[in-house]
Amino acid sequence: MRRLFQFRGGLHLNAHKKNATLKPVVPAHLPKRLVLPLQQHIGKPAKPVVAVGDTVLKGQLIAEASDTVSSPVHASSSGVVTAITAQLIPHTSGLSAPCIVIETDGHETWRPRKKQVYDDHQHTPAQLREKIRQAGIVGMGGAGFPSHIKLNPSGKAVDTLILNGAECEPYITCDEMLLQERAQEVIAGLRIMRDALNAKRCIIGVEDNKPEAFLALQQQVRTTNVDFIDVIQVPTVYPTGGEKQLIQVLTGLEVPSGGLPLDVGIVCHNVGTAYAVYRAIELDEPLISRYVTIAGSVAHARNLDVLIGTPVMDLIEECGGTPETLSRVIMGGPMMGIALHSTHVPVVKTTNCILVNARADNTPQPSRGAFALPCIRCGACAEACPIDLLPQQLYWYSRAKDFDKVQDFHLFDCIECGCCDYVCPSQIPLVHYFRYAKTEIWALEQEKKQANIARERHDFREFRQEREKREKQERHKRKRAALKKDTGGSDADKTLDAKKAAIEAAMARVRAKREADTVAPKNMDNLTEQQQQLVNEADARRARSAADISKETRA
Ligand code: SF4
Ligand code: SF4
Repeated sequence: MRRLFQFRGGLHLNAHKKNATLKPVVPAHLPKRLVLPLQQHIGKPAKPVVAVGDTVLKGQLIAEASDTVSSPVHASSSGVVTAITAQLIPHTSGLSAPCIVIETDGHETWRPRKKQVYDDHQHTPAQLREKIRQAGIVGMGGAGFPSHIKLNPSGKAVDTLILNGAECEPYITCDEMLLQERAQEVIAGLRIMRDALNAKRCIIGVEDNKPEAFLALQQQVRTTNVDFIDVIQVPTVYPTGGEKQLIQVLTGLEVPSGGLPLDVGIVCHNVGTAYAVYRAIELDEPLISRYVTIAGSVAHARNLDVLIGTPVMDLIEECGGTPETLSRVIMGGPMMGIALHSTHVPVVKTTNCILVNARADNTPQPSRGAFALPCIRCGACAEACPIDLLPQQLYWYSRAKDFDKVQDFHLFDCIECGCCDYVCPSQIPLVHYFRYAKTEIWALEQEKKQANIARERHDFREFRQEREKREKQERHKRKRAALKKDTGGSDADKTLDAKKAAIEAAMARVRAKREADTVAPKNMDNLTEQQQQLVNEADARRARSAADISKETRA
């Protein structure tokens, strides 16, 4: 019997899970049109490798990863690429983003696949990570972080690999159904991930309100006959499915503020990710579909195996919902999901639930903002916070746009679980403020980064220009010196030297003349007429000579 631990705060919520788990999971209808966003993950968007008009096969690569933190996108079905353009995506902003649109042909023709049964340690960890990267697998619990990166411990020792099957949000049951129906494949995926991480042991955590899933896993672990996997039931408290909370409940270890589970020797993945890893390695299938819960006010709440890119409205209609009755649709759960601006957005790799007009008891956030009252400093939000934060302070500083202070109160440790929202008697949409503050801080960081890059570029340009100028001057100097050495000076230099000598000689003559002129003539009295004429002639010659010298100097 394993000892379990408790995190502080949290909530006991109505589960609303029963309805969607009554029917087995079946593939959703093939949509006429698939819309595949180039960014369905954390990191840089993928780069298209197909063009409009191309025919594609199911599972074919259509966009490649553009960076280390990026993930490729594959065609979810066979058909023709009809557009590569901005389309509405599921995002809080309600904005559009680049997508590849495929008109399906109805044949579901796969690209060639090489199936294999994986034996432990059949591939090296690096080979496994590369295959997982190529399959476009990202965290399917909602985060969307590329899984090959999370499966690389970068030299750190991994003691425990935890598989998160807690699924604590109301209404969502896709992981529960996956564990009930695909326990064998999930365990196979877990073993592959263990090899990629070289983890000593594995724990699968399942909330105690999912007994069938728990039994299916236990049964499978017994059949596999391995001693390094434990399946553990954890109490149903929201948000046990949070990575840090589940780690604390199962191991008693607390991930440090701003740190990663790897800092305490743990890596945590979602059960859906393990299933995707199994499909990638054993079936050679990329991540092109996933289990999605369609719940709330639809006639037939259930889970469907949905192709990535399927429009949300298609799923709602398939489950008995009609456009006329829709007032609000949430992607995700009532606590952490995002309210959709349009039902034409596609299902993406991280979509776990489509919640239609959910009942008010578990949907505090979207309805609250309009009726928010002033904070009465009751402290209920801090009591409920599972991270031990002070939501009231975070709210004040977010509202005041004091982004330094809000970080001092560990804003980035907030997992946006919505517990504080849920209990706030003033109905303040606290999480909206926290998301706003995070977005602003990220934008400011980005601006700072861009400004630094621009400054560095400017400095480097100036440095380069200065260097080129210096090099040019040195080159000229060297050239002149070399010419002088070879020819004893150029013709131009020689002309210049001759001119200088002529000027100097002329100036010397002028100086001498001036000196001569300053000597007073002697014996000039009582000159005869003939003598006076000789003197005049001499003066005239002197004057002519002076004029010639002056002309020569000017020249
Ligand atoms: S629960 Fe609401 S009213 Fe109470 S302290 Fe927190 S923010 Fe203020
Ligand atoms: S949303 Fe953030 S601040 Fe509010 S309870 Fe959850 S972790 Fe705490």
